[in-house]
Amino acid sequence: MTAVQDKFYTDAFIAGGWKAAPRTFSVTNPSTGAEIARVADCTPEMAKEAIEAAVTAFSSWKKVPPYERGKLLRRWFELLMEHQEKLARLMALEMGKTIKEARGEVAYAAGFVEFYADECSRMNDEIIPSKFPHKRGMARYEAVGVVYAVTPWNFPLAMITRKVGPALAAGCVVINKPAELSPLTALYAAQLWREAGGPEGTLQVLPTNDPAAFSSPFFADDRIRKLTFTGSTEVGKILYRQSAATMKRVSLELGGHAPVLVFADADLDKTLEQVFFTKWRNNGQTCITANRFYVHSSIAEEFGRRLSEQAAALIVGDALEESTQVGPLVEQQGLDKVVRHVADALEKGATLMTGGTAPGGLFYTPTVLSGVKAGMLILEEETFGPVAPIVTFETEEEAVQAANNSAYGLSAYLFTSDLSRAWRVSEALEYGIVGVNDGAPFAMNPQSPFGGVKQSGIGREGGRWGLEEYLSVKYISMGI
Ligand code: NAD
Repeated sequence: MTAVQDKFYTDAFIAGGWKAAPRTFSVTNPSTGAEIARVADCTPEMAKEAIEAAVTAFSSWKKVPPYERGKLLRRWFELLMEHQEKLARLMALEMGKTIKEARGEVAYAAGFVEFYADECSRMNDEIIPSKFPHKRGMARYEAVGVVYAVTPWNFPLAMITRKVGPALAAGCVVINKPAELSPLTALYAAQLWREAGGPEGTLQVLPTNDPAAFSSPFFADDRIRKLTFTGSTEVGKILYRQSAATMKRVSLELGGHAPVLVFADADLDKTLEQVFFTKWRNNGQTCITANRFYVHSSIAEEFGRRLSEQAAALIVGDALEESTQVGPLVEQQGLDKVVRHVADALEKGATLMTGGTAPGGLFYTPTVLSGVKAGMLILEEETFGPVAPIVTFETEEEAVQAANNSAYGLSAYLFTSDLSRAWRVSEALEYGIVGVNDGAPFAMNPQSPFGGVKQSGIGREGGRWGLEEYLSVKYISMGI
């Protein structure tokens, strides 16, 4: 028995109310395989209906004084925190995040709403000096317009609030299409926006099992002025191309392939403590998870042994159990990819130090591989699972070159006690985020810029940078 009663919203949240779809699709619990709920499978016609409601809502929401918008956001923040346990359970149920991590995600996600509620009172326009005494110039920040937000399953709440928080603060309105694997958390958050007093049509959430067909009206419609997407690089490229037809603003938060550089002078106790967070959190299913470990040859054996001990001690189990540290993979496709990457590495000569088994269902034992070399799939593709491949290096240049040898550029980590090296290497790494002796650069941190370079995306979320993504600058010049 659980103290908290689960509550599911399963219809689409359109124009401030709940609406059933002609069809539904199944949402299952990856820990058990059981169906949790059937959810509205929204059609392109429903997308069009939401667009009309959003266009109407935008015409008034953009005129609401930012201070008032901030008050509603603050109320939403408070409700998200009041419902922390319910939201956390939904996440654990629908995508297998451990209940402890899920509670943390709710707080992290709500933090964006709180941060942007406060930013509402800091949205100042700027006066620009003129060369002429009879002229005055002004840069006025205006809401971009109606936003289409497509979000992934791995952070079912935070990836929504990181977009919706700044968008609503800026005066934009948002239609969110949550991932088909995790719509329940999104729908629950929409209900809380309603309870906070969020006006009709300002935030709408429409789940679907056919994202491509459902999305087409958004790309055809000139009134949708922005696409904000978090997900794979592959899908991001498709949506980027589709956005070109109506020249939408885009923010793309895409895949990563994070390298971790462990130098001979690193404090290994601290390194392993930090690696614990970046490697095993969310079962390795995060875009900034440690995907490739480059370890100096002089400490590689000790590091590998201690990381293996850490991995072997992790408690794998049902996401809702308080003791669980690693839950299931989210779906069969994800598990298959992990199995394929490990098999490929072993075939090509890597050594299995621990793990490497699929004990049933969607579970996979936390795995450490040593002797990993260029040419193995695991060094080329995002694994998105609980596997730590170790490559050894001799020189700093070699490590930096290997780390940068990727199409991705989201996050990288380095561990060293040498301050000069810390600066040198963080500047040389071609990544949007660098953690120096820090495996959790974003823990409870909505005020910092999150985003990648290269094929990891365009734009930044969080902090003032995240707000700018939803504002366009109008220059007003006045003769006096
Ligand atoms: P995905 O790209 O498969 O799906 C993301 C979203 O896109 C889902 O809502 C899905 O329904 C939708 N989608 C898929 N095809 C579509 C289409 N043709 N048209 C419109 N929408 C479509 O990614 P995923 O498996 O849900 O998430 C994992 C990926 O997300 C990983 O690559 C991870 O690195 C990335 N990610 C990036 C960040 C970041 O901030 N950079 C954060 C979290 C996850």
